Amino acid sequence: AVPLVVAINTSMAARNGILVRDRIAMERARELDTVVFDKTGTLTEGEQGVVDVTALEDRDPDPDPDPDDVVTLAAAAEGDSEHVIAQAIREEARDRGLSVPDVRGFEALEGRGVRATIEGEAPPAVVGDAGRDRAAANTTDRDGHTVSVGGPNLLRHLEIDPGDALERFADDAGERGEGVVYVLRDEQVVGAIALADVIRDASYEAVDALHGMGVEVAMLTGDDRDVARSVADDLGIDTVFAEVLPEDKDEKIVELQDRGHLVAMVGDGVNDAPALTRADVGIAIGSGTDVAVESADVVLVENDPRDVARLVRLSAKSYRKMQ
Ligand code: ADP
Ligand code: MG
Repeated sequence: AVPLVVAINTSMAARNGILVRDRIAMERARELDTVVFDKTGTLTEGEQGVVDVTALEDRDPDPDPDPDDVVTLAAAAEGDSEHVIAQAIREEARDRGLSVPDVRGFEALEGRGVRATIEGEAPPAVVGDAGRDRAAANTTDRDGHTVSVGGPNLLRHLEIDPGDALERFADDAGERGEGVVYVLRDEQVVGAIALADVIRDASYEAVDALHGMGVEVAMLTGDDRDVARSVADDLGIDTVFAEVLPEDKDEKIVELQDRGHLVAMVGDGVNDAPALTRADVGIAIGSGTDVAVESADVVLVENDPRDVARLVRLSAKSYRKMQ
């Protein structure tokens, strides 16, 4: 039978919007000294909005794209992605009344972006500079244009330099706390899109409450360093792990554990699942993906990051009762 105190603890938790999937982990929560939050969809609203679009000029020999073309290409490539960035770009295409072409061969480049091939258009016949050589090498099917959309990490991965104009665009966006994704056609950058992250009101209190209890707060994200830093500074979070690939997120948890910390991870995405499993207490946002919820010890049913502090307090309370 379930001991009485534990039963009380669980139903008390449920009343506070906390679903306990693993009671041992819930017990452990009272000793937490570090809480690591995922950024996107956890500390920030699961939504983003397009705030600026720029198109590169002089894309010889192709005609210059304009911002509408950049959005059209991006929306086409993002058609099958569930990422918040994809949703924002598709909405922007709708708002602009653009007609978005069909694509095939959609690929999610985990933690970096997406890639797909637009049907029907013949690729340029001339194979000139290094960029085109690379495009030719990377285009398996020569029957259309390959379009990729991704963050700074995608460009670094492809060893592509965005050039001065786009670097300025990205710097300005970064200073405003916005993120940038680049749009590539046949592996050449044609433009960029700036998106705004909206920090959830509850996140400020969530961080303050944990700090008030003497708990360290860190942020773990696949997103760009500058964007991550600006969100973290706003929230008063000192430790930031940015530009972390999905497969490396759990390693950051292990690093903290190796330094002697008892660590909770709070996340919503498929990419957070390994870190949620690895953490001493894995905490999923209730509206998060099934994979995240199934990898977690505790689920925040109300999707409220402030419930992390409540959970720690509740754990301490029921532990005292048991002694
Ligand atoms: P987070 O860890 O904050 O939830 P992700 O790991 O999902 O972020 O993504 C990391 C970065 O990779 C994003 O900030 C973005 O730059 C890029 N990225 C990921 N998915 C997409 C996509 N569908 N379209 C464009 N960029 C993407
Ligand atoms: Mg997320």
